[in-house]
Amino acid sequence: MAGSPERGSLVSYHGGHTLYDGTGRLEDFVLAAIRQGFAGLGFSEHMPAPPRYPYPDQPSWDEAVRKFDRYVDTVQELKVTYRDELPLLLGIEVEYLPDEEEYLTDFLARYPFDYVVGSVHYVAGIGFDHCREWYDEAAQKCGGYENLAVSYYRNVRGLLALGVTDVLGHLDLINIFSPAPISGEDVAEAEEATLAAALQWNVILDVNGRGLIKPCKQIYPRAELLRKAREMGIPATFGDDSHAPDQVGARLDEVRASMRVAGYQTVTALLPDGHQIRRVELPL
Ligand SMILES: [Zn+2]
Ligand SMILES: [Zn+2]
Repeated sequence: MAGSPERGSLVSYHGGHTLYDGTGRLEDFVLAAIRQGFAGLGFSEHMPAPPRYPYPDQPSWDEAVRKFDRYVDTVQELKVTYRDELPLLLGIEVEYLPDEEEYLTDFLARYPFDYVVGSVHYVAGIGFDHCREWYDEAAQKCGGYENLAVSYYRNVRGLLALGVTDVLGHLDLINIFSPAPISGEDVAEAEEATLAAALQWNVILDVNGRGLIKPCKQIYPRAELLRKAREMGIPATFGDDSHAPDQVGARLDEVRASMRVAGYQTVTALLPDGHQIRRVELPL
């Protein structure tokens, strides 16, 4: 892509996962981004899930937090080392559970995050995105797939109402194991209410290509939702959702194309400006 006019607007604020469900050295993510001419890169490692709801691949909570501490230190060091080459941000992908709100806000207060990716991977206490079996189990617990989606979006709005989210992660992840987007009147209503909340809370949508390699084979948010978001004036950014250094920038061509089709003209970057983080619109 060297020399491409699009070079200057490559960013990702969702990715760099290595601790629990990814691999590689954080520095190699940075080098891969520099090679591709990224304008900005944010690391958003998963928050260690609360002890009651551990991620499948997560070590004991204490060990998870020790690893997380090292992640924070490493990103802070990389920021300094690569100061002149690439603006790096320390972020986190939080996990929202309705009965663990305090855990989330307490965890955020422990570290000097530059920004927060807010995500929901649990419905009815089940990590629905882990595998098809758990997805079906969560749907069963909710009383069907439509109710699963409605509950999911209710959680997303609960997350937004905490006021901690800067980037809203993979908006319609709830379709992950569904051959077609879950639909129905109640689902459409829930989606609309969630977009309205996203606008109200002034968050940036994570346009995330990882769904393309999942059974749903879609970018999150799918075309229809992304178009609605654009019509409402909700800003959007790229997320490669990288879980290894060779996934940096993966599928961002498709992500960019989907934003263009939705009518976006810019991609929103988060860039350091002194001690502040500024939103900057880059040409799409
Ligand atoms: Zn991950
Ligand atoms: Zn996620």
